[in-house]
Amino acid sequence: MKKNILSILFALAMMPVISQTHQTENLLIVTLDGFRWQEFFNGADSSLFFNQRYTPDASRVSEFWNADSDQRREALLPFFWNVVAQQGQLYGNRNYGNKVSCANPYWFSYPGYSEMFTGVVDRHMASNRKVMNPNSNVLEFIHQQNEFEGKVAAFSTWDVIPYVLRTSYNGIHVNTMKGKAFNDSIISEDTSQTDKDERCDESTFTAAFDFLKQQQPRVLFLSLDGTDEHSHAGRYADYLIYAHKADQMISELWNWVQTQERYKDKTTLLVTTDHGRGKGRNSWKTHGRWAAGSNQIWMAVIGPDTPALGEMKTNAHYFQKQTAKTAAAFLGLEYTHSSSAVGEMIYPMMMKQDHLTANKETASAK
Ligand SMILES: [Zn+2]
Repeated sequence: MKKNILSILFALAMMPVISQTHQTENLLIVTLDGFRWQEFFNGADSSLFFNQRYTPDASRVSEFWNADSDQRREALLPFFWNVVAQQGQLYGNRNYGNKVSCANPYWFSYPGYSEMFTGVVDRHMASNRKVMNPNSNVLEFIHQQNEFEGKVAAFSTWDVIPYVLRTSYNGIHVNTMKGKAFNDSIISEDTSQTDKDERCDESTFTAAFDFLKQQQPRVLFLSLDGTDEHSHAGRYADYLIYAHKADQMISELWNWVQTQERYKDKTTLLVTTDHGRGKGRNSWKTHGRWAAGSNQIWMAVIGPDTPALGEMKTNAHYFQKQTAKTAAAFLGLEYTHSSSAVGEMIYPMMMKQDHLTANKETASAK
């Protein structure tokens, strides 16, 4: 009998668990493909909003304009600026020196999602083609833990996501909606995607939300694409509209989660993007190595283990590859990877309240 207890204790000690005190039991990850930090933190960009070429009919999006940038961003992303800013954390406002960047040198979708979920930069993953990722990722790592088996799911508008996450290899539940041009890469100036199905992100969202309600997964990844698609086509109003729609979807998800016994106050929501876009008046449409600024990204988190620090204004630099270890840490797991270059956990996202005071003092002393 004693031997059994000892072996159980031993098994527990060997589990990749970081902390027993955290409250997160479920994790939602949402991505807005190629949505810039500039709009995330400043709202609509006047040089594009009042530009006939990109916004021929500004009356469609007049609700997103305000001379005050705080009000502008709140109009565009009310959930982020009314809820996450009050109860969570937002990273990547370079106006304050708070930076989040891609560590990969490519700055387009496949390498971005790969870095985000594998926690490493693999220079060989340098195209958006449907090639199985040779690298293990944090979703499959979580799925391999007994209590998460069959409880991890991914829903994406872009049909390359299953290859990035290698779901046919690891058995993670995946649902994808449609294709996207594979030439969306560093060499393409503009893929000029036609939008055959304007409701695509809505379909992805509906499928994901239904699955959440019916199957109650513990980890759900929702990958939205409208922001990237419309910006490649130079449609600034639609880019804003799709960002606003994403904000509404995320709000709907979060509000539902917070009414469910199973999820309420036990769920962390992490929202980010795969890459930025050019910062120029024309280069905003594209991204990649030659579109300066498209390595610049952002992250937002809300949940029971994330202190309400709001918009992060400390001088700091984080990287996309840190997402993997951070995501696992929320669930009390320590993500490991064969590469020693795996990104470290973003500490302030999970910092406990008792450490908080000390940190605030250090920050204000600077
Ligand atoms: Zn793109």
